[in-house]
Amino acid sequence: MSSEGHDIPAAEGGSPVRDKYLPFFVPDIGKREIAEVTATLEEGWLTYGPRTRLFTQRFADHVGASHAVATSSCTAALFLSLKALGVGPGDEVITSGLTFTSAVHVILHCGAVPVLADIEETTFGPDPEAVERSTTSRSRALVAIHYGGQACLVEPLLQICRAGGMHLVEDAAHAFDATLGSRAIGVFGDATCFSFYATKNITTGEGGMVTTNDGELAERIALLGFHGLDGDAWQRYEEKGKWFYEVLAPGYKCNLTDMASAIGLVQLDRADEIREKRREVATAFLTELADLEPWIDLPSEQPDRRHTWHLFPIRLRLDRLTCSRDRFIHALAAENIGTSVHFIPVHRHAFYREFWKERSPRLPRTEDFYSRCVSLPIYSRMTAGDAADVIEAVRKLVRYYSLS
Ligand SMILES: *Cc1c(COP(=O)(O)O)cnc(C)c1O
Repeated sequence: MSSEGHDIPAAEGGSPVRDKYLPFFVPDIGKREIAEVTATLEEGWLTYGPRTRLFTQRFADHVGASHAVATSSCTAALFLSLKALGVGPGDEVITSGLTFTSAVHVILHCGAVPVLADIEETTFGPDPEAVERSTTSRSRALVAIHYGGQACLVEPLLQICRAGGMHLVEDAAHAFDATLGSRAIGVFGDATCFSFYATKNITTGEGGMVTTNDGELAERIALLGFHGLDGDAWQRYEEKGKWFYEVLAPGYKCNLTDMASAIGLVQLDRADEIREKRREVATAFLTELADLEPWIDLPSEQPDRRHTWHLFPIRLRLDRLTCSRDRFIHALAAENIGTSVHFIPVHRHAFYREFWKERSPRLPRTEDFYSRCVSLPIYSRMTAGDAADVIEAVRKLVRYYSLS
């Protein structure tokens, strides 16, 4: 590699690979989404209404689930699912440390205690053995993340849940359109929660969805997510009109709006196109970075799974590089390439450090992942040229910082 040693990183005084900054993410909103939102505004039905009902039905059909409930976010979907499954004070809920913290906050919001398990190293989801070791008589549910858009080890985790009397709630914020065997993510656990946050594979700006094959659970989630209000009560009292409703629980306010669903309906139509563009970027990265494996570990698509490529995390082999992970990120930014880190482990955040204090969970694989990971940009608006620039910048930095 010495023949290319003249190639100095911009962070070390050279010139950058790109002139124009490539953001870590750019949303893919086109004329159709804009037209649908405009039509919704003109028709005047802004909140929960016909478009949300249609979006919910089409989403359930797409995933192959019998029921779906649209929510204001994935965080709300996770909270309502746990709550509707009866998670409350005295319960423990297991999840893995490499996740977005809102998936842990909601456990506390239910009055339950979060328990963090370590990840396993093929899908970076919860390690079944670690989950089994964390199980106690108080364990009530497992929140399992499909990290980066690849199905976690769902089947062994389901077995552990069934054996231990635990519910399985899946955090599929990254995993819309992921598959495991012949089925889509959304039909395995008791409830599966999706996110339509701006950066997710399909978006409504803010939004979420729960899918489940349990009709009663879907009803409870819908009721809790809309004031605890039973809107069909008027049908049971002959003399009452459509103005009548009954409140059955002190519910929350977590519904999706028709303005958001207008965007979601178009995004759902475009799902294949969006997914294939992400796959093209992933394929370019996997092909063109393969020979850097002595210096970086690449993510891989496990057999029997369709990866959505929501994230493309590379892990630096720091023992063979002269730079730190943070320096590598800084140097990529200097090449005009935006990156991110997914995730800062839950127990490293100030609140959870204080929460667990000296009983902080020991999660060596989560820690190792965090210390070495860099999420490269990957999204449908990236061109082949953008992907080539990312590849060139990574190659340039590995060349420069590699120990020879
Ligand atoms: C984005 C994300 C969430 C939260 O989704 P919102 O829709 O923003 O509430 C939860 N879990 C994971 C893993 C995420 O990436």
